Amino acid sequence: MFDSERHCMPRSWALSSRTGPAPHLSDAGTLVAMDARVVELGNGVFAFRYAFFDQTIGLVVGDDGCLVLDTRTLPSQARELQEDVRRITPLPWVVLNTHHHFDHTFGNANFLPARILGHTRCATTLLELGEDMRERVAANMPDIAGELRDVRIVPPGETFGESVVLELGGRRMDLRHLGLGHTDNDVVAVVPDAGIVFAGDLVEQGAPPSFGDSFPLDWPDTDRRLLELGAGTIVPGHGEVVDRGFVERQRDQLEAAAVAARGAFADGLHAEVAARRMPFPPTSSRVCAERAYAQLAGVPGAG
Ligand SMILES: [Zn+2]
Repeated sequence: MFDSERHCMPRSWALSSRTGPAPHLSDAGTLVAMDARVVELGNGVFAFRYAFFDQTIGLVVGDDGCLVLDTRTLPSQARELQEDVRRITPLPWVVLNTHHHFDHTFGNANFLPARILGHTRCATTLLELGEDMRERVAANMPDIAGELRDVRIVPPGETFGESVVLELGGRRMDLRHLGLGHTDNDVVAVVPDAGIVFAGDLVEQGAPPSFGDSFPLDWPDTDRRLLELGAGTIVPGHGEVVDRGFVERQRDQLEAAAVAARGAFADGLHAEVAARRMPFPPTSSRVCAERAYAQLAGVPGAG
């Protein structure tokens, strides 16, 4: 399900509006569009930034189509994203869900009849737990509860377990599941000709990693495989675009957390002790420790 740390305590609860000035290109090539900001990371590769959950949405434009990476939460947010995409390209879109969390998938219905790709477990988890996510988000965020009821939960219709190659007319993208991490269905999108990888919530900038559905013992190795892809620019699911050094440091923190959990568990200590040895804020560390202990105890579904 969704991660209560970030999703219940977003840094910004403000929904975006369309009342500001028209978008314009700054000297740095940054498109400023009211509260949404679009950064061109490479030729035809973009990152949209939205205040809601500090979310980062990707766009890759090929010769005869474009890939939109994640679809936001509410129908109005999905429409805003579509408008932002249409400012850049009129080409038909294909969607990738980087994982099943509501803020990445609840806008899917707005993109139909487009192809929607995702990991097999992204689809099954959305079908199984989507309504539960809706209820929990509505309970935690009463200001959007009304519009949440309008969301039609649509799982990805084209699923894969390990990897798939997506061709968008002269442009190849590798969509890959690198292992357990933020969830059990994280998918990254590699744009080889641009040296860019969209990491979903395997990488978090501006907030600690979100551990609610995570697999802390596996996450460091999954991030190691992410780094082995060789990309110099990594686009997180939330926050600013980062470089390899940032991901290496976050991977090291995740490794330290896993080591703390393994050590404390082996010594028969409470998960709270493990949490205090982790390099994250207390709330995050507590959830991380609980998830790691569930894995170490062999709890079904905990990896
Ligand atoms: Zn997530």
